[in-house]
Amino acid sequence: MGFQDASLSEINQIMEQAALASQVYGKMSLISRAGFMRAIAGELDAIRETLLITAMEETHLPQPRLNGELNRTIYQLNSYADACVAGNWLEARIDTAIPEKMPPKPDIRKMLVPLGPVVVFGASNFPFAYSTAGGDTACALAAGCPVIVKAHPAHARTSELAAGAIMAAAGKCGLPKGVFAHIHSSGFEGGRALVSHPAARAVGFTGSFSGGKALFDIASQRKEPITVFSEMGSINPVFLLSEKIRQEAEVVAKMYAASITLSAGQFCTNPGLLVGIDGPDLEHFLDILGSEIQHIKPSSMLHPGIAAAYREKKALALSQQEVRLVAQSDTQAEALEGIPTIASVHGDAFLSNPLLHQEVFGPYSLVIRCRNQEQMLAVARHLEGQLTCTAMATPQDIRDNPQLMDAIGQLCGRFILNGVPTGVEVCLSMHHGGPYPATTDSRYTSVGADGIKRFARPLCFQNWDDQFLPDELKNANPLGIWRTVNDQLTKEPITS
Ligand code: NAP
Repeated sequence: MGFQDASLSEINQIMEQAALASQVYGKMSLISRAGFMRAIAGELDAIRETLLITAMEETHLPQPRLNGELNRTIYQLNSYADACVAGNWLEARIDTAIPEKMPPKPDIRKMLVPLGPVVVFGASNFPFAYSTAGGDTACALAAGCPVIVKAHPAHARTSELAAGAIMAAAGKCGLPKGVFAHIHSSGFEGGRALVSHPAARAVGFTGSFSGGKALFDIASQRKEPITVFSEMGSINPVFLLSEKIRQEAEVVAKMYAASITLSAGQFCTNPGLLVGIDGPDLEHFLDILGSEIQHIKPSSMLHPGIAAAYREKKALALSQQEVRLVAQSDTQAEALEGIPTIASVHGDAFLSNPLLHQEVFGPYSLVIRCRNQEQMLAVARHLEGQLTCTAMATPQDIRDNPQLMDAIGQLCGRFILNGVPTGVEVCLSMHHGGPYPATTDSRYTSVGADGIKRFARPLCFQNWDDQFLPDELKNANPLGIWRTVNDQLTKEPITS
């Protein structure tokens, strides 16, 4: 079923409605916002079967994966609703007046307030958790911002169903029209118009580097520039340290064969680069990894465009000078399927060829054979910003490589030890972001309730009478939230 593209006049109307709704929704209590988010979670759960069947048809992802992702989406909505009410994200700060100070210090109080309408571009590879009712939408609603979603064309029907669930929840919660809107647009025009509209106050995006950067540029060139939180490509380098590979080549190789091919490699955290030191230990590791990969059957990719892009980018990478095919799946692939593939290249060739640093989105990983530890360090210092980096290392490896550990830490938003980067836990301490070009703002996460802060800004109240302050900053602390009062973190009311 095709959906009609939104016209420019419809987009204008939607954005104007969002601006009006923002005046009401942004002032609603934390409890009311949380109630809306929990109602969305309930509506999604109520149409679980339809959502799953539709998403399976559209994305070719298997039912268990989609069911898990839907559970995660519902969990995100409920847990960010809890975080919304707990209010830590508001960063409430209060410095009470000191009239006797010379000059007198006024009463100063600060908290985060909603930015206004947020435009969300869903991800093709997460039809639930990072799409219409996904993390960006949940964070923006918790922050008090209306949301306008541009449906991803690769799962337009799933998006329409999720949008219907959000609308139903909005109706049941008695929210103003314009708190949520959903458009389809088969070209880039609709997305560009949303981001360019003066009522838009921020953008959440997950997808390709070219898309995320294009929208970032549009937003920066507006008369009134706005922030775009784009989560773009990452090759998630894995550093295979010597002692670890000598001791546990088989365990590590099997773990990585599974991670590289999980969901046809269509994760932003897919390990696209394995960096080791050339020699018999790495050779042994590659033998095991190669034989594992040969036995893994190709699986369907999200849509023909992504499957074609995988084939083309992989072929281009394999055609580069000194790149060698290590192994690929023995099973013949259908047109939509991505063939699991491992290639290798020497450190010198990698360092001098930027094309090999680019993401090949799919079940592909490139192994860099470094001459020695110095070259491994040079690779770490040469790479661009990443969502994640991993060290496969023994305690001795870590002690022997302090400079490498520092260099890796500067490269990424999440540094994993002896694990795989695929699988992103939804919790407060998670950081899913990283230095450019992994994201457009490495200070913020798109996973975990800290992501709410992306869609809010500080507002400082100086010298205001208690009765006129928002509840969050009143002396009595009626919401019972954590606040920093005169440099002390406390839930206590202010009594004097
Ligand atoms: P995409 O092409 O970046 O598209 C994502 C959304 O942004 C779509 O709604 C798309 O509109 C819109 N868009 C893209 N470029 C735009 C532009 N210049 N102006 C306005 N809107 C624009 O991502 P995708 O379709 O999900 O996948 C394509 C490639 O992205 C993959 O092959 C892969 O390389 C990469 N990818 C990376 C990740 C990651 O997390 N690192 C995740 C998914 C995909 P349309 O509706 O017109 O397409």
